[in-house]
Amino acid sequence: MIHRNSGPVVADLHTHSTASDGVDAPARVVERAAAAGVQAMSLTDHDSVSGVAEAQARGRELGIEVVSGAELTAYVGSREVHILGYRLDIHHEGLLAHCEAFRRQRDWRANEIAKRLEAAGAPIDIERVRAIADGGSIGRPHVARALLEAGHVATMEEAFDRFLGEGKPANVPKAEVSPAQVIAIINEAGGFAVHAHPGIGDQFDLIPEMAKAGLRGVEIIHSAHSVTETARATQLSLNHGLLRTGGSDCHGALPGKDELIGRFGLDASRWITLRRSLHDRG
Ligand code: AMP
Ligand code: FE
Ligand code: FE
Ligand code: ZN
Repeated sequence: MIHRNSGPVVADLHTHSTASDGVDAPARVVERAAAAGVQAMSLTDHDSVSGVAEAQARGRELGIEVVSGAELTAYVGSREVHILGYRLDIHHEGLLAHCEAFRRQRDWRANEIAKRLEAAGAPIDIERVRAIADGGSIGRPHVARALLEAGHVATMEEAFDRFLGEGKPANVPKAEVSPAQVIAIINEAGGFAVHAHPGIGDQFDLIPEMAKAGLRGVEIIHSAHSVTETARATQLSLNHGLLRTGGSDCHGALPGKDELIGRFGLDASRWITLRRSLHDRG
């Protein structure tokens, strides 16, 4: 069937490190990917490319191809959309300015979340959240871990279900930015924009508009996608002339989460097709 991988995963193009809300340092993520048997990967931290150089250096040592990447946040109304950028110039000024603005905004947002948690009867120490983030871009998973440590919740899921998820008392959106703006930033940085996990939050309806704005691909394979969601994403990619990518979205071994690295992604034939387009400038 068209939407199924026909061989083992050789490329995991969606991973996170301590540069955002992952557990492992960038070099360690590459080591884990290599240990899982992939030949290629991309480090795609949220609104950050700060881990990419370290990952690529480790990749060269281990003989695994590390495609530069990031997962940029956008909004359509209150819906949060994630757009992956691949083969980015990680020194591009516009991209770095965008990431820096997001980092500062995330810091402000963490304080705002802490205030709301206190009002909701689940106070946390913001300094502890910063320590957990360890210099990386602060995200809700760091706050969820602080809530877990403080004994307010029993699992990370519970932290999102009761406090941090969309529509919950301590949910604070990030910056106002549209998918078209994010796609433009990626394109200006020489990158290749891909709609991440369209199955999460049923975002298939957003693809036609994004394709008009310069989207180049869709993440069809993802750890949270059902077979039906992968098929739907594949169909849309065919209808709109988009490339097909895939990855695990591994954040490392978090409490209650399996190590996903290398378990989701592209098989050899899909990776060869995508790799050709990635290396083909323009
Ligand atoms: P942020 O970037 O701060 O908005 O946090 C978003 C991140 O939180 C996502 O990339 C996931 O890593 C994590 N996340 C979002 N929703 C959930 C959920 N329901 N359960 C666990 N983790 C989640
Ligand atoms: Fe994340
Ligand atoms: Fe995402
Ligand atoms: Zn991700």
